[in-house]
Amino acid sequence: MSLKYCQGPSCHTYCTKDRLRGTKDNKTFQTRRRTSFYYGKSNFCSLNCQNDWWELHGDNAINHFGRLTEPKHLTEDNAWVKDYDWRNNADDSHRYYFLNKITNEQRPLTEAQYDDNNYDLNER
Ligand SMILES: [Zn+2]
Repeated sequence: MSLKYCQGPSCHTYCTKDRLRGTKDNKTFQTRRRTSFYYGKSNFCSLNCQNDWWELHGDNAINHFGRLTEPKHLTEDNAWVKDYDWRNNADDSHRYYFLNKITNEQRPLTEAQYDDNNYDLNER
């Protein structure tokens, strides 16, 4: 596994013991490096570092990938979610179904359909 650096722009300024690296007379606080991190899809060592990045780059990121300029709408055509009732069948298995969050209509699902991320009723 390869090591990667926390992407927090100020990570090296948080003076914790584990960030103090280097040889005896040449120690510096350094950006954390790990095989994986818990925050921001494994890009940040802490929520602080993730928030620092967002503060610096968030507006640019939104503008780059597309800023919403009007509300999105949840309609019956795109309101289907998968759900299940815990051990609700006669054989003690879960009962899987699609639920439309607008109409409350339910449609039965098999467990395989429930697990299939490509199986979807919503219109794109
Ligand atoms: Zn960090």
